[in-house]
Amino acid sequence: MIELIDTHAHLDQIDNLDDVLKRSFEAGVKTIVAVSSDYNSCNKTLEISKSKQAKILPAFGIHPWEITAEATDKCIEFIKENAKYAIAIGEIGLDYWYKEVKKDKSKKEIQQDLFKKQLSIAKQYNLPVIIHSRGAWQDCFNLCKENSIKNAVFHWYSGPIDILKEILNFGYFVSATPALSYSPQHQEAIRNTPLDSLLIETDCPVFYKNQSGEGFNAEPKHVALTLDLVSNIKNLPKAAAAEKMLKNAKKFFNYN
Ligand SMILES: [Zn+2]
Repeated sequence: MIELIDTHAHLDQIDNLDDVLKRSFEAGVKTIVAVSSDYNSCNKTLEISKSKQAKILPAFGIHPWEITAEATDKCIEFIKENAKYAIAIGEIGLDYWYKEVKKDKSKKEIQQDLFKKQLSIAKQYNLPVIIHSRGAWQDCFNLCKENSIKNAVFHWYSGPIDILKEILNFGYFVSATPALSYSPQHQEAIRNTPLDSLLIETDCPVFYKNQSGEGFNAEPKHVALTLDLVSNIKNLPKAAAAEKMLKNAKKFFNYN
């Protein structure tokens, strides 16, 4: 059976996790990178990574949607204390299309400060970063570069192609999601990303619509769908694409 890795899953947000993990394992998903989004989520992700039988690699971080003053300091402390267990820092970044930022531009600076703080933790512990960059692609790239981040993945990249090229030329990665089935921006980005710089993921439990217009809540097993879409877009047999995606993930996250 084809072995798969989901490089971006919010396992802390999934109900009936035991069943979901069982189904994923049966679908060939042997490894899952579990990202976090705030203090409670970091705690839960760490706990999940210790207690479940599937290989779950935890990433800690504060998502740009989850910034609140008091919880933020507590979470930064948590991330520092537990960085030794982390495979990456994430999901972190900037989101200039987020409703709070549209209402109040000063929220941009708060996001940037927090992003910089987390990039410096990644640098200190030599960890890769998992980036959310919606509407803020250039600033996310510049901040990673300025903070001497060696390994970054721009998750679900759907931004401009000229910035994508800067990202790729600098040696950073891009990840594909099941949105490849319907999003022209995401398709264009993945078409322009060499196989060597690509990872696959689900961003589960995100709700996706398939080609026939029906929706589904993603689980890690749906990384098989992302693989299908990548193998089509890259015109590569599925088994070869899977092998390449696994190799890339091992290289990017530095695990075996
Ligand atoms: Zn996510």
